[in-house]
Amino acid sequence: MSVYARFGVRTVINACGTVTRLSGGRMHPEVAAAMVAASGECADMIDLQAAACRVIARITGAPAGIVTSGASAGILLGAAACLAGLDPARMNRLPEVADGRNEFIVVRSQRNMYDRALHVAGGHIVEVGIPDRYSGPGVRDAAAWEIAAAITPRTAGIYHLAHPHSLPRLPDVATVAREHNIPLLVDAAAQLPPAGNLRRFLAQGADLVAFSGGKAIGGPQASGILCGRADLIGSALLQMLDLDVFPDLWRAPAEFASLRQLPGLPHHGIGRSCKVGKEAIVGLLVALERFAARDEAAQHGEWRSILETIVTAAGDAVTCRIIDAPVPVLEIATTDAEGLAAQLAANDPPIHCGLGRRHEGVLLFSPVSLTIEQAAIIGRRLSQS
Ligand SMILES: *Cc1c(COP(=O)(O)O)cnc(C)c1O
Repeated sequence: MSVYARFGVRTVINACGTVTRLSGGRMHPEVAAAMVAASGECADMIDLQAAACRVIARITGAPAGIVTSGASAGILLGAAACLAGLDPARMNRLPEVADGRNEFIVVRSQRNMYDRALHVAGGHIVEVGIPDRYSGPGVRDAAAWEIAAAITPRTAGIYHLAHPHSLPRLPDVATVAREHNIPLLVDAAAQLPPAGNLRRFLAQGADLVAFSGGKAIGGPQASGILCGRADLIGSALLQMLDLDVFPDLWRAPAEFASLRQLPGLPHHGIGRSCKVGKEAIVGLLVALERFAARDEAAQHGEWRSILETIVTAAGDAVTCRIIDAPVPVLEIATTDAEGLAAQLAANDPPIHCGLGRRHEGVLLFSPVSLTIEQAAIIGRRLSQS
């Protein structure tokens, strides 16, 4: 009996992609086995994060990195690092910032619910730009000079959402950040594949980049990566670690040498609620190594064949179109998208697809969390619709 059945939970066929609501994706057995193996022994968490730092630095090109409990946690920890730096007294006070240097500049068109993590750490968002390309009457978005104009002694950081249509472009934002010596924190949670993006945002000048481990990387659902400047990563790590320690006996490993210059050790930090377990760290590292080493074209081909399996099994019942993107997606056009989605969700097991374009009469199917067998089931259901 499956562990889900044991607890009375019905599993679903997830054609939505690695969405959190539907438990992300499916881990490769090698990743799952590594987590089981890690669970059977103990290690010092800072040694584990030092190992994570070495792996993440090698794969991303960042000076340093840590495993987090998700991209959202990465944003929170990154914000905490921007707010407190290597000052243990500032760390101890977060989310309060006594001197008011707590502002994060965010381009208005990039606002999203994940930027709440900036607030949770103690930040305050200052919006810039008029995105009238979205509202309709105009064609523009924020320009880099508008970010520069918003920088004051209260500025703690600049937040950028990495997305193909984000404006201003990251390299232009990075130029402003560098000129004013303000850290640039990038949310790249879902910008994989291509695996090249693991290096790209850092190469374009980001100081900190957060990725989700539970999306395309294929790590544990609640895992992520924060990578970037060594001093900021050291600060982020220290604000997440369990610090029930004797400071005179505590010494930072070489990977986090920036922490050796601290005048003292803070207590449990603002990131303590973002705790990441040993199993998640080991699982993420194994998944990351697999993700970075895999043949992207072959993976793309596998995803395409999953979608083609749906199309073949569906026959003429529906109008299908496969869109070629880093992760290919299947569009199904129908006169009654909501009716069809409801019918699929009533299947046993329920089939969940993307509803973002239902008002255009289109349902979306992502291959990332599907097996080929599930693809055949989806196709058969569609053929009966
Ligand atoms: C998914 C996502 C997150 C959250 O990632 P988690 O790993 O689930 O915490 C944050 N930002 C963006 C843009 C995302 O797409």
